[in-house]
Amino acid sequence: MTKAETLARRRQLLGRNLSIAYQNPIKIVRGSMQYLYDDEGREYLDAYNNVAHVGHCHPRVVQAGQQQMAVLNTNTRYLSDLINDYAARLTATLPESLKVCFFVNSGSEANELALRLARAHTSAQDLIVLDYAYHGNTNTLIDISPYKHNGPGGHGAPSWVHSVPLPDLYRGHYKADDPEAPEKYVQHVNEVVESLGVRRLCGFIAESMPSVGGQIFLPENYLRKVYSRVRSAGGICIADEVQTGYGRIGTHFWGFETYGVVPDIVVLGKPIGNGHPIGAVITTAEIADSFNNGMEFFSTFGGNNVSCAIGIAVLQTVLEEGLQSHAESVGSQLLQKLRELVTEFDIIGDVRGSGLFLGVELVRDRNTKEPATEEASSVVNKMREQGILLGTDGPFHNVLKIRPPMPFTSSDGDRLVEMLAKTLTELG
Ligand code: PMP
Repeated sequence: MTKAETLARRRQLLGRNLSIAYQNPIKIVRGSMQYLYDDEGREYLDAYNNVAHVGHCHPRVVQAGQQQMAVLNTNTRYLSDLINDYAARLTATLPESLKVCFFVNSGSEANELALRLARAHTSAQDLIVLDYAYHGNTNTLIDISPYKHNGPGGHGAPSWVHSVPLPDLYRGHYKADDPEAPEKYVQHVNEVVESLGVRRLCGFIAESMPSVGGQIFLPENYLRKVYSRVRSAGGICIADEVQTGYGRIGTHFWGFETYGVVPDIVVLGKPIGNGHPIGAVITTAEIADSFNNGMEFFSTFGGNNVSCAIGIAVLQTVLEEGLQSHAESVGSQLLQKLRELVTEFDIIGDVRGSGLFLGVELVRDRNTKEPATEEASSVVNKMREQGILLGTDGPFHNVLKIRPPMPFTSSDGDRLVEMLAKTLTELG
């Protein structure tokens, strides 16, 4: 089928609110590491898709899935060394206290389960979330995702959800030029805790580096202070590592480690299956015990043999190919080169990130920080025409999001920067 026919058929058969990337959609038919190929054989450098963490169709992952699929694929009610092995390997990457795993099939399911665990442990419901956060597509997760419930089609937050300002030192309520800014952001959490009255706090959930919020790195000590306040109010702390885990940020394996905190529950998704649907929740023995309240927990597909074989292969690949340190060196060179563009292009308001988790915020005016939303969209579409895939994010969709498969190289980075400079020049 031609691309136009495929598009027409999709419009007829699929829900219209499934969005399609780029003004000129791409029909991708094949992927290999950090490259994607369309129906006309054109190659694209993928600088956006973090799900293919160790690379699109990484042979080791493909082989693990194929082999296990030919042997057995059943559920967690039977004993299997694969699931135990996967759990042991995952917990070995985490702090000592996080030792009990649950496996599901998506980041959304994992966050749902994390909330159930938190509620079982605290017998409380109220949750503190960051503004502009996104945690998944279920009813409850839309409730805790301001990005969705405050956006088009949303109906706001229910009374048990308390959102606090996103601690964004570039564009947020308090900025980098205010030395009190980090403390002021923490103060919002304190105020929520103090205002609860008879309501009780279940916990706090945040991405370690809010991604939909615009590739934001939290101020130093923010999480440490927030976790401490939440815990003193009886709440538990959930780290959504769906986008930030598995070495992507280069300096650390997990995003939360950069802040010197240890969450009570960690939520994993996207990259851990390299495209195969796997989600996981890892928590303390105490919280897992509270959840073990007589009601069975079962997920038909969660933790099945094929998923575990794939999950192990992905984790082994990350560790054995040294992808975390690769991300650190490639990412820091890329960050440096992107920062060099700031002197040349007034439209670049901020460049931030770590490892292969980077953001370039475009503004019409550096003083007012008016978001250059249409320009960002135009850049992404022009880059796509040049064979480089990027996306936009942030509350105003004016942040270019760079989050490639981890095999992305320095020369891929150079190509990206060169093409970005050319595109920004053409933008005028
Ligand atoms: N948490 C975060 C931070 C995410 O980015 C996403 C997906 N974009 C999810 C949870 C939900 O994951 P999934 O789409 O696999 O359900």
